[in-house]
Amino acid sequence: MWIDESDTTQLSQRLRLGPRELLESIGGPWQVSERIPEREMERSGTLFVGRAGPSVAILVTDDPDPDVIVGVAVGEWQGVWPLLWSVTDETGVLTTPRRDAPSAEVDGFLADLRRAVDAAASAKAPTLVVCRYCGALVAPEFAVGEEVCQGCGTSVFGIVY
Ligand SMILES: [Zn+2]
Repeated sequence: MWIDESDTTQLSQRLRLGPRELLESIGGPWQVSERIPEREMERSGTLFVGRAGPSVAILVTDDPDPDVIVGVAVGEWQGVWPLLWSVTDETGVLTTPRRDAPSAEVDGFLADLRRAVDAAASAKAPTLVVCRYCGALVAPEFAVGEEVCQGCGTSVFGIVY
């Protein structure tokens, strides 16, 4: 049995889209992530990070018709697990279509979302690390130096995080 432990379905619900529609347009998977507390106080919402690495952050605000803020995902260690993630270098600020929105409006939203997500993914791509032991493509937040992922840091070099 295969169980999808990602939060892609939750993201699609928050954006009022079907999960398949969402995946076809912006890829995945997406995971709900912890935010830096000050950012959450400025603008409360749910932060999803995803695509390779992860490289893209999508903040869905807690408004009745949520704003969707897309940008490059950057993680910060604040001493202990887990990493705290932020949206940086915003590539798009969109508003979720209303529940009764005509399909043309939903299609327009999806196209804008895709552009913003692809732009953020391209911006982060040069910093991603390809692990020379297992071949995983990881964000620098999950790498040790420029060529080893944290998993292999532990299994090959015995590094404990
Ligand atoms: Zn590795």
